[in-house]
Amino acid sequence: MKRYSVFAVAREALRHHTGWERAWRSPEPKKKYDTIIVGAGGHGLATAYWLGKNHGIRNVAVIEKGWLGGGNTGRNTTIIRSNYLQDPSAAIYEKSRSLYETMSQDINYNVMFSPRGVMMLAQTQHEVRGFKRTAHANALQGVTTEFITPARVKELCPIMEIGGPRYPVLGALWQPRGGTARHDAVAWGYARACSDMGMDIIQQCEVQSIRRENGKVTGVGTTKGDISCDRLGIVVAGHSGVLAEMAGFRLPLESVALQALVSEPIKPCMDVVVMANTVHGYMSQSDKGEMVIGGGADGYNNYTQRGSFHHIEETVRALIETFPMISRLKMLRQWGGIVDMTGDRSPILSKTPVDGVFVNCGWGTGGFKAIPGSGWAMAELMATGASPLADPFSLSRFREGRFIDESVAAGVAH
Ligand SMILES: Cc1cc2nc3c(=O)[nH]c(=O)nc-3n(C[C@H](O)[C@H](O)[C@H](O)COP(=O)(O)OP(=O)(O)OC[C@H]3O[C@@H](n4cnc5c(N)ncnc54)[C@H](O)[C@@H]3O)c2cc1C
Repeated sequence: MKRYSVFAVAREALRHHTGWERAWRSPEPKKKYDTIIVGAGGHGLATAYWLGKNHGIRNVAVIEKGWLGGGNTGRNTTIIRSNYLQDPSAAIYEKSRSLYETMSQDINYNVMFSPRGVMMLAQTQHEVRGFKRTAHANALQGVTTEFITPARVKELCPIMEIGGPRYPVLGALWQPRGGTARHDAVAWGYARACSDMGMDIIQQCEVQSIRRENGKVTGVGTTKGDISCDRLGIVVAGHSGVLAEMAGFRLPLESVALQALVSEPIKPCMDVVVMANTVHGYMSQSDKGEMVIGGGADGYNNYTQRGSFHHIEETVRALIETFPMISRLKMLRQWGGIVDMTGDRSPILSKTPVDGVFVNCGWGTGGFKAIPGSGWAMAELMATGASPLADPFSLSRFREGRFIDESVAAGVAH
């Protein structure tokens, strides 16, 4: 595959962009692969990428029922941070955040990582105490965060009204190297890198059954026929329960819709990401100028990848006291994705009761930020049977009561 570079752009500009090749191949499936990954979202593609890059496992197919990146990876609001409370979470999210720092160079694809800083507002005394505790925990974990004053909040984000009557801003947990990245580019960049290593990305191919013999996986049945494999990674976010049922086990997950919306594009007015957990809303400004706005997950289980009116009202109502300017914005569009939530709001990276089948799921409302680190850990788990980053997140924690409680860090999502 030809490298993208400033020289390539200049060369193509001179020949009217006729020389670009397709970023990834679209092959028909082979009869057998060493490893199959179900789900070409960010986590599935990153898993495949690190299997090839770190472990030399390249006879891999990534099977996707729709188009790659068409699930939550292409629907999220792209907040990247690692200011979690518990040590295993901080470890995997910080690994991931640090991989984002060099991702564009590593995969030769501009993912537009923008470490513009993320602040989580404290709008109650309870939150002040909680975030100060997280800042101390982060200091011990080697994650750079600090608790900042209301005056500093205002300095970093002048459009914010910090003296609101109901929920005044009392400070914020600030992570200066948190930020955003272009979500589609993360999926496309990994797909291109995987294809370049000889892996097959098979789109428009739904996995409909998982074949087993003597408790071991032997392959999958798909809309493009049966495909054999020695190892299977299930990386399908909101549809993890459906795939687990095909393999004959259950997962402690609920699937719910999470929605977001964007405004019409406006002039640059906000160069940080702000999350307001008490009122349940968050906002950033995209490079195109749209205000990207999201809130909490729907309060009922469903598989509907759509937005709904109640969400617009709830989220905008939540944010309007702190950001009065949004009352004058027009909404451009709204959408939803199906996220997979565990009881402790932490992910599952694990072996399963079926030999050779692994799951990577439960990222819930906040897995975009985890894509490179999760792929790194999942690949290590699949290739070697263990991974220091993944092991605390095994399924056995639910049997053993070893929960990794991140309901505060993941409370408002993201
Ligand atoms: C509105 C919204 C906002 C969000 N905001 C943030 C945020 O700001 N920051 C953050 O960190 N995270 C955020 N998230 C969460 C984040 O998007 C997800 O955790 C992450 O993208 C999950 O990636 P994935 O690769 O596991 O899943 P997905 O991207 O959903 O990929 C799974 C893929 O599996 C495929 N699939 C399913 N069933 C089958 C089958 N039977 N056969 C073949 N393929 C199948 C699907 O088509 C899909 O493409 C948000 C999510 C939503 C919906």
